[in-house]
Amino acid sequence: MSKIKVGILALQGAFAEHARAVESLGAVPVLLREASDVEGIDALILPGGESTVQGKLLRQLNMEAPIKKEILAGLPVLATCAGVILLADHIENDRERYLGTLPVSVRRNAYGRQLASFMTAAPVEGFGRFDMTFIRAPQITKVSDQVNVLARVDGHISAVSYKNQVGLTFHPELGSDLRFHGQLLERAGRRKDGQLRKAI
Ligand code: GLN
Repeated sequence: MSKIKVGILALQGAFAEHARAVESLGAVPVLLREASDVEGIDALILPGGESTVQGKLLRQLNMEAPIKKEILAGLPVLATCAGVILLADHIENDRERYLGTLPVSVRRNAYGRQLASFMTAAPVEGFGRFDMTFIRAPQITKVSDQVNVLARVDGHISAVSYKNQVGLTFHPELGSDLRFHGQLLERAGRRKDGQLRKAI
């Protein structure tokens, strides 16, 4: 099978770190900067950064509709930090809603100034202990019944999965533990395999 192509939204924020992570695992990073870049990718990463800037650019560049369409069609997604804000179907402290494909509520910059950035470790369902770097992170404040909560830090939800979407409020691309990236590639490989089988 040809290498997995991972589209990484590259309008602003921590896309380069994700590209490095994906490459180190043997996949091909594809930086997404315009709508036509979205075609032919096997997985999607929505990186951290500033969600208001990313969201505005997504719209200006007409990338919101094609990305949303692919997510709803089952494209495996890993969203980190601002990426989760772009996916959330409700943002408590923002009038905007962007892709809206993940049935959770989020609160932006939820840790306050003192705790704006910190590192910790917490158990993640299926992985065990995981090092987590938080940078002006959001909190996931509500989840619908179909959403799996994978991790909590001090009682606040920090990792969820829902169908083909995994959302983390921390930054795994800044650490050396790339299991979420590995899992994304596995999910993409399985889907690609299925699609090939159907096509034969
Ligand atoms: N505070 C940022 C926002 O609201 C998210 C921070 C991050 O992605 N590290 O968009």
